[in-house]
Amino acid sequence: MKHRCPICKSPTDSEVYADFPFCGERCRLLDLGAWASEKYVVSDPIFDEEELAEAQRDAQGVAHKKQNETIH
Ligand SMILES: [Zn+2]
Repeated sequence: MKHRCPICKSPTDSEVYADFPFCGERCRLLDLGAWASEKYVVSDPIFDEEELAEAQRDAQGVAHKKQNETIH
């Protein structure tokens, strides 16, 4: 089955290319990377524990503010 690599558009063949429909590992990984970055672009990844604690404090602060708003 002949196809075209979705990354670089070069012709691929399912009987020849192990990474079909990609022409090679490089394009397969590129596609995987694009998919992963699309998935994780929605929320900012927090790697730092201090930042995480800060974000949690911020979230709690917002919750408190909202509570106060509803009381008044
Ligand atoms: Zn390719």
